[in-house]
Amino acid sequence: MSSKNIYVTQPFLPPLTEFVTYLEKIWANKILTNNGPLHQELEAALRDFLGVDHIALFNNGTIALIAALQALEITGEVITTPYSFVATVNSQIWNHLQPVFADIDPVTMNLSAASVEAAITARTTAILPVHCYGTACDVDGIAEVARRHGLKVIYDAAHAFGVQHGDRSLLQYGDLSVLSFHATKVFNTFEGGAIVCHDAATKQRIDNLKNFGFVDETTVVESGINGKMSEVNAAMGLLQLRYVEGALSRRREIALFYNEALAGIDGITVVEGNRSVHSNNAYYPILVEDHYPLSRDALYEKLKADNIFGRRYFYPLISEMPMYRNLPSAAPGNLPVAHQVARKILCLPIYPALEAADLQRIVSIIAH
Ligand SMILES: *Cc1c(COP(=O)(O)O)cnc(C)c1O
Repeated sequence: MSSKNIYVTQPFLPPLTEFVTYLEKIWANKILTNNGPLHQELEAALRDFLGVDHIALFNNGTIALIAALQALEITGEVITTPYSFVATVNSQIWNHLQPVFADIDPVTMNLSAASVEAAITARTTAILPVHCYGTACDVDGIAEVARRHGLKVIYDAAHAFGVQHGDRSLLQYGDLSVLSFHATKVFNTFEGGAIVCHDAATKQRIDNLKNFGFVDETTVVESGINGKMSEVNAAMGLLQLRYVEGALSRRREIALFYNEALAGIDGITVVEGNRSVHSNNAYYPILVEDHYPLSRDALYEKLKADNIFGRRYFYPLISEMPMYRNLPSAAPGNLPVAHQVARKILCLPIYPALEAADLQRIVSIIAH
């Protein structure tokens, strides 16, 4: 029995001395926020690294989601997934929108294009899918549904940092994509987020929205919000970028280890996305099937008893939460796949500093 606690993730921290060097720069130039030099440098560096045309940094992913819905002036009903973090849907409520839940695909665990199409009404104006675990949604199927019905598509890409789809960034799909740089994510700025868009006018609109609605020194044209990223957060982002390739390849190694070690265990299903060469391995989800000797919750507790803290992402479903469960679309009969997955899902620890001996221990607890 080990006394060390192992959580589902651990933030990657660059060498402290390198962070101090950035702090000295901030102290010297006395610019702490408001589109400062480090903010500008990080936007340019992320544009290059991610392979996107425009990116607007934010103080967190939730404010970025709220601003993305504002930027496209979404109204009425939004079709979305119950299988996500609650911010995906809370951001719609903050825009006075009506979330409509549709079911997910059993393999990708992302919104299925067919269930989206079946949920469209005269009031639908947008689709808000999530690239869950960094696994790409059916972007072509969703684009086709959106085109046929004249809907906007905003991707919650909080898990999808650095994911390619075909020959380009997954973030190039949809009208907008929203990233989170929270401490628990693959790439973090303590707290942070961003909106990826495809043209300069939209980028300008988003930049105004996140700065109270100012368009110049004295002119405010709309009720914007304060969504600005500070220089300290931007400095952390620049440092993360120095190390992110290494962090992603270590995540890949861990995923490959789990894929092989768990493959032969009866009753454990390795989620397909873990095997994708495009995955950023942000998470390591498995399904605990009914014929596994323990229930999912019993396995979760057994790991916890050995100080290994997996997470049941995503359980409960957003549609089961008190503020959403009375919506007609939240009825379990409308979301059978999401309910089945939420009952079986368990995310195992994965982060660059996770040691081989701990990985062995996790696998042997699951195997016995
Ligand atoms: C983390 C996360 C968010 C929220 O991002 P914050 O930066 O924590 O506000 C939104 N959606 C999903 C799917 C997330 O995982």
